[in-house]
Amino acid sequence: MAELKPYREIPIGGRIEKAGNSEEFKTGDWKTFKPVWNSEKCTNCMVCPVLCPEDCIPVEKGEKPVRKETDLDYCKGCGICAQVCPVKCIEMKKGDADE
Ligand code: SF4
Ligand code: SF4
Repeated sequence: MAELKPYREIPIGGRIEKAGNSEEFKTGDWKTFKPVWNSEKCTNCMVCPVLCPEDCIPVEKGEKPVRKETDLDYCKGCGICAQVCPVKCIEMKKGDADE
């Protein structure tokens, strides 16, 4: 988790001083469950990368796009990907990214 700032260093109103900084904030340690993806069963239907609210399921672009491993640094463990996968190749398991 990011180091907390003393209150004197926090901008007035908590405003964001630098735009486009979301990549600096790794939110993956918020999750209780993590998605475990079975790449062999995956049909690359592209449903989960589109519906992931964190945009943390990378896709290799090309004539036939290919889903890549979830970026657990940003995944919040919401489980939407597991719910929507038509072939049920994502299982939500308890534990964080390092387990
Ligand atoms: S659990 Fe949620 S945030 Fe994580 S990859 Fe799946 S849809 Fe995205
Ligand atoms: S929804 Fe399931 S089958 Fe489709 S890309 Fe995601 S993991 Fe693969």
